[in-house]
Amino acid sequence: MPEERTVTIPAREQHAGQASITVTLPWIYQQCDGPRGEPYSAISWDGSHQLAVHSWINPCGHVEKYSQVRRDLEVQP
Ligand SMILES: [Zn+2]
Repeated sequence: MPEERTVTIPAREQHAGQASITVTLPWIYQQCDGPRGEPYSAISWDGSHQLAVHSWINPCGHVEKYSQVRRDLEVQP
């Protein structure tokens, strides 16, 4: 089993400062099959509101978009 982390991310692009989801994810960046960076508290800005979320920096240097993380969630069994 891969390591997992529980993180809070925006539920959608226009989160209005409220729409967050907390999810447990395999802590692997699937494009590279490498570990993701450690999550840290961050602020997401949708253009008019702030939302407290987690962010992380992948050691391989690839930047993940929340939109891609949400798409990956939809295809999980
Ligand atoms: Zn990468």
